[in-house]
Amino acid sequence: MIHMNDIAENIRQIKERITNAAMGCGRSPKDVGLVAVTKTVSPEQIRKAAEAGLDCFGENYIQEADKKITALADIGVSWHFIGYLQSNKAKYAVRLFDLIHSVDSLKLAKELNRQAARHGRVQKILIQVNLGGEKTKSGAAKQAAEELIRDVAMLENLSVRGLMTLPPFFDAPEKVRPYFRQLAELRREIAAKNIANVEMDELSMGMTGDFEPAIEEGATLVRVGTAIFGERS
Ligand SMILES: *Cc1c(COP(=O)(O)O)cnc(C)c1O
Repeated sequence: MIHMNDIAENIRQIKERITNAAMGCGRSPKDVGLVAVTKTVSPEQIRKAAEAGLDCFGENYIQEADKKITALADIGVSWHFIGYLQSNKAKYAVRLFDLIHSVDSLKLAKELNRQAARHGRVQKILIQVNLGGEKTKSGAAKQAAEELIRDVAMLENLSVRGLMTLPPFFDAPEKVRPYFRQLAELRREIAAKNIANVEMDELSMGMTGDFEPAIEEGATLVRVGTAIFGERS
């Protein structure tokens, strides 16, 4: 049972599990970043998490994030966008987020590029891949990912840093492992093509229920909400 006011203790446990999973497969724990997922979490709770040592937070909804990021401007943390992004919200996303995990179409990428150019900056992004082919989830199809990345690579104010996936839901983490492995393979395949303006350093995969197998398969960013902040209502 996870209690809201045990945030510092939850963080300690999650960090310990990340360290154990990384060391257990011969990786350095430093190579696995923790993105604390804060959709529906109050600014006060986020502040507690920052005080307990977290420095990277992930949000799913632009309006909610805008309010919280403004209220927490003083804590000096990094914000990532991990939710579905509509092109007409691109201008806000570019203003608010250091890394956008969920780019899955050329239309969205072009709009992010245009907005980033207006702000005179280069926006870091990941390409979201829908490995399960689920209609209810966003993400480029696996077969379409390389072509999308080649097109996005031409956009000067975007910088592709890697891949993200939100695999199908299973009650057992081991059932998700093949999807994590597929994303890691896709990353290797694309990295081997040496596409200009494309880095394949980041693999964003793994959540509360399955971040350990994700780390074993190569995750560099795990996105954990419930295990830190408790069940969302
Ligand atoms: C909500 C969410 C998470 C965190 O899920 P938990 O199971 O609470 O850890 C991770 N990634 C995405 C894209 C999410 O929407």
